Amino acid sequence: MFGLMQDRPLLIQQLIEHAALNHGDTEIVSRRVEGDIHRYTYRDARVRAKKVAEALVALGIAPGDRIGTLAWNGYRHFELYYGISGMGAVCHTINPRLFPEQIAYIVNHAEDRLLFVDLNLLPAVEKLLPELKTVRHVVAMTDRAHLPKDCKIPNLLVYEDLLADKPGTYEWPEFDERTASSLCYTSGTTGNPKGVLYHHRSTLLHAYGSALPDTLGLSARSVVLPVVPMFHVNAWGLPYSAALVGAKLVFPGPALDGPSLYELFEKEGVTFTAGVPTVWLALLQHMQANGLKLSTLKYAVIGGSAAPPAMIDTFDKDFGVEVLHAWGMSEMSPLGSVNHPKAKHARMPADEVFAVRLKQGRPPFGVDMKIIDASGKELPRDGKAFGDLLVRGPWITSGYFKGEGGEVLRDGNWFPTGDVATLDADGYMQITDRSKDVIKSGGEWISSIDLENAAMAHPGVAEAAVIGVHHPKWDERPLLIIHRKPDATVDKKELIEFLGTKVAKWWLPDDVQFVDAIPHTATGKILKTRLREDFRDYKLPS
Ligand code: ADP
Repeated sequence: MFGLMQDRPLLIQQLIEHAALNHGDTEIVSRRVEGDIHRYTYRDARVRAKKVAEALVALGIAPGDRIGTLAWNGYRHFELYYGISGMGAVCHTINPRLFPEQIAYIVNHAEDRLLFVDLNLLPAVEKLLPELKTVRHVVAMTDRAHLPKDCKIPNLLVYEDLLADKPGTYEWPEFDERTASSLCYTSGTTGNPKGVLYHHRSTLLHAYGSALPDTLGLSARSVVLPVVPMFHVNAWGLPYSAALVGAKLVFPGPALDGPSLYELFEKEGVTFTAGVPTVWLALLQHMQANGLKLSTLKYAVIGGSAAPPAMIDTFDKDFGVEVLHAWGMSEMSPLGSVNHPKAKHARMPADEVFAVRLKQGRPPFGVDMKIIDASGKELPRDGKAFGDLLVRGPWITSGYFKGEGGEVLRDGNWFPTGDVATLDADGYMQITDRSKDVIKSGGEWISSIDLENAAMAHPGVAEAAVIGVHHPKWDERPLLIIHRKPDATVDKKELIEFLGTKVAKWWLPDDVQFVDAIPHTATGKILKTRLREDFRDYKLPS
């Protein structure tokens, strides 16, 4: 027997309707690419999102068409999220930091019909345009007054002109909640990038799950500044979850340097922020160098790579900000786990609690996790056994766009994350390593993340990376690569001694190399493939 409740599909456009009706005067503040600060409300955003949908219909865009965006975090990008998905098309966010060939590959693979492009990214698109086979129009995300005179993109459209004559009364259509809504390509450190195609239902369930108190804990009293870009897994879903709860949104535009971020945090009363570890390095350095404090910020989500313990500690002790360590991936929309304490932790010694808080956290309801060994046998949840981490749930992918990579699920509907992890009896998951980064020494595994975290705690270290290099006897041994802080003089001997107090002796790196900069991926993670190439001919000291 079926129950008798309404069968209303879960659709993204319902979020902006809800926010406009119930949080109509809540502000969305953006630092624009044009340089100034723009403010309006959810009520205004809803009308403009409808105008976007009307403009798309006028341009002949049909449901299911892919629409590319190359843009920073800002209100126009927010309107596109809702206008594109709300009319049944697919919002395809593209990372402008990718190599031009990768961008061309992604646009052609997705068969994007239109490209919405921020002002400062137009020159790059102009160069790339001859390679883009399916794009009919480029839309400059600005008004006519700011349009660069020398831009030679043929048939260029201007965002504000497109919206100007539209009524903004569009009736959102109702359709199957499994309709594709947005598309995000993984950075593809090996092989071509692969598309993860979200649907309306997965996006709404993810927004519900991520707003929960022990996930991101968002509410109508939150002021949310996503430093994580809207092209990095939909800014971790924040443009949706903020609308779901009616939180104020603050978009930083392209200015992610310490002073610009700090100014917005303080002026707009930001309470909640999120980003990868590398962006916080710049902010913390700026605040420390200038003796600045944060007066409203309560929570900083750090994810995308392991949050270094020293960073968690600095945020807490020096700035009174609680770090929420989070883990996820594009294939998971992206949230898989967030670290919040439990009631019993209040009664435990501080060092034991800190060890728990370093873990990648607990999954919200909606994400199932298990770890398995090489033969596929499930391992115990004892916080010690580590194995391949598998996940399943309604906001986790079942396969890549256009079938790339073939069948990806295992054991029925489990998605293999490519991460190696432990699970404990309280539900906390800890990443040991990416399976391709773990160092296999004499049949035992050394976690590159643990070594990097330990090295990052040295005051002279700006950033640390560890890779495995060939060793005739042990197969692989760790090589520590260090980018020193300006003026720091720390050397190999001092670092090895320092690590000796923190990790097992057989884990100690065989050598330390100093570099001027550590290479990063387009999403700000340490680019280990490049480091392995750079050190390909390197020989460990005998
Ligand atoms: P991209 O490289 O395109 O940003 P993803 O964001 O999907 O790709 O990357 C997901 C991977 O990032 C995870 O599988 C994991 O290896 C790593 N990761 C994400 N969050 C954390 C974290 N908190 N600690 C350690 N690794 C993490």
